[in-house]
Amino acid sequence: MEKILNYINGQLREPVSGQWLDNVNPAVGKVYSLIADSDERDVQQAVEAAEIAFPIWSTTAAEERSRIMVRMADLIAQNLEKLALAETIDNGKAITLSRTIDIPRAESNMRFFGTAIMHWSSEAHVMEDKAINYTNRKPIGVVGCISPWNLPLYLFTWKIAPALAAGNCVVAKPSEITPITAFLFSQLCMEAGLPPGVLNIVHGLGPKAGEAIIRHPKIKAISFTGGTKTGEHIARIAGPMFKKLSLELGGKNPNIVFADCDFEKMMRNTIRSSFANQGQICLCGSRILVERSLEKKFTEVFVEIVSGMKVGAPLDEKTKSGAMVGEAHMNKVLEYIELARQEGGKILCGGNRVHLDGENSGGYYIQPTVISGLGPNCRTNTEEIFGPVVTVQSFETEEEALQLANATEYGLACSLWTSDLNRAHRMAAKIESGIVWVNCWLLRDLRTPFGGVKNSGIGREGGWEALRFFTEAQNVCVDLS
Ligand code: NAD
Repeated sequence: MEKILNYINGQLREPVSGQWLDNVNPAVGKVYSLIADSDERDVQQAVEAAEIAFPIWSTTAAEERSRIMVRMADLIAQNLEKLALAETIDNGKAITLSRTIDIPRAESNMRFFGTAIMHWSSEAHVMEDKAINYTNRKPIGVVGCISPWNLPLYLFTWKIAPALAAGNCVVAKPSEITPITAFLFSQLCMEAGLPPGVLNIVHGLGPKAGEAIIRHPKIKAISFTGGTKTGEHIARIAGPMFKKLSLELGGKNPNIVFADCDFEKMMRNTIRSSFANQGQICLCGSRILVERSLEKKFTEVFVEIVSGMKVGAPLDEKTKSGAMVGEAHMNKVLEYIELARQEGGKILCGGNRVHLDGENSGGYYIQPTVISGLGPNCRTNTEEIFGPVVTVQSFETEEEALQLANATEYGLACSLWTSDLNRAHRMAAKIESGIVWVNCWLLRDLRTPFGGVKNSGIGREGGWEALRFFTEAQNVCVDLS
């Protein structure tokens, strides 16, 4: 069976423990490869390699760092089919999604930050004829990047690209649930000529390999994307060590629909924002809030379309809804559907596990599910489910829509559907979220600040924000007298 090895000091290595974890293909429910079960000893090796590489990488000309990163982007593009297939087998997402979103975005991440660094500059503050201050933005040193399973290579590269571009050396850990594309990526790093130790990839469990990264005293900054509970745990460890922290956490995003919206466009996008990647995107809108005068029409059309959505094998080119990432996560989502029933919710469609035929009969599939009849404060409407499950609530006024939208502890993203531009601006300013999409969803410009408020995290990724995170600003004041 294929072994997923660590990438440390430019080499592929077995874990020090000699232990392996099972890696499951969720479409069929069977183990298909083995993952290095790393611990603090592997992390120690990775940190040592990164420390040795740092003085050279951090002083390598930006043009050279850029050249290598662009080469990495090119290699992702050249290996698109191989990476997309691997991502789909590992994660259960539809092959068309891996091919058109996940892997192209991983390529863009490397190219975007690999070229951004060529345009990176810092500020100067002139005190008339007295003095000049300039800001020296220095790479931090060895940094840690930890990513989740829902967009595996996409989010892994989203973190390591700005870290590397800014001149840091990285110890990274992809999710143990979806490690394969990070492993294939390590082979591309070798092919691209990335110097040994600049990027080190340690595979394994969060509480073991991941926590060893968080606790390591030589790792000065942590960029983490994952669940809010894990983020809280990480902050407790890293806070007293004064590590720089970027935490991109969970969401419970509202999708606010006014009666004056472009109905067709809203409906098309609401289907996507509810069920893309089986609802396993932190930005998915899981609470649909509809203006009461539109509620009947919205619900009828929405439920009709969702009832007709077919769950299928991820490798089938026609599939739009594939498998859930794993059995434990599928069961968690099914428990939430049961909870919604107990809380008095009405299941308008879906609500059950799906058993496909043939070799996919053991896979983890759930019907796209729509629930109504629940108020804003129940657990179904306040906790992150992270699956193909949405609720529908209605509102009368803008004020009521805002109250419903802001009624959770999360604050990642929001979609707003209206043709009244004044209302859109008014609402956007009052919505408690890091991102507001007006008449669109998941339209991404990599230069924009990305992140959440409240329990959705701290810090911003994207564009200059990411390069600022991965550098320390030092002010140099020169007396001109
Ligand atoms: P998770 O928190 O379980 O795991 C995320 C990563 O953290 C994994 O690599 C895991 O191994 C590691 N980890 C777990 N425990 C750790 C510990 N004690 N120390 C260090 N590392 C540890 O999250 P998940 O289930 O993989 O991902 C789903 C969650 O991620 C959802 O809540 C989703 O909303 C969130 N997410 C957020 C964003 C965003 O940008 N805000 C994007 C994608 C996913």
